[in-house]
Amino acid sequence: MEPILFVNIPDVGLDVDLADDSWLPASFHGSEVASVSFFLQRQQGGVHLTGKMELVLGLQCDRCLDLYKKSISAEFSVDLVVGEPAPTSDDQVEYICSAADLDTMFVELPQVDLPEVARQQLYLQLPVKKICEADCPGLCQCGEKKGSTACTCKIIIDSPFAALAKLGVAGTD
Ligand SMILES: [Zn+2]
Ligand SMILES: [Zn+2]
Repeated sequence: MEPILFVNIPDVGLDVDLADDSWLPASFHGSEVASVSFFLQRQQGGVHLTGKMELVLGLQCDRCLDLYKKSISAEFSVDLVVGEPAPTSDDQVEYICSAADLDTMFVELPQVDLPEVARQQLYLQLPVKKICEADCPGLCQCGEKKGSTACTCKIIIDSPFAALAKLGVAGTD
């Protein structure tokens, strides 16, 4: 998809949908993109962009390394401004990190690269910790997921009788 020049955005604004999932970073191939749509409107100093994305991501669990799916449904609004962020001094750092400033995207040229905007918004939606389910038990010492059929050491580790057996006090009747 060619970038959209600011000057080509009509005064009434412009609706654009990303037709396919070619904008997805390679690491997310296999994800199911339902829709990504944008509305662009010119404003003083640049373009105001609002958008919406609905997709089901294929992610890998940080704990058990299983692949799992996560639905993402997000709306966002970004101000596109030509130029660079103003230089900051130390006492401005706190201000710079405020949420409002994250919604400003500085671009080199007066044009909108929608696939790039979509990727940035996707990364903002990613969970910090990717966990397949809240009580994911993680990996066993054998390398398999704890409690899975592939892990055969579960019974020995988890059974209190096994611990007693080690002490020589169980199963003596
Ligand atoms: Zn997991
Ligand atoms: Zn195991």
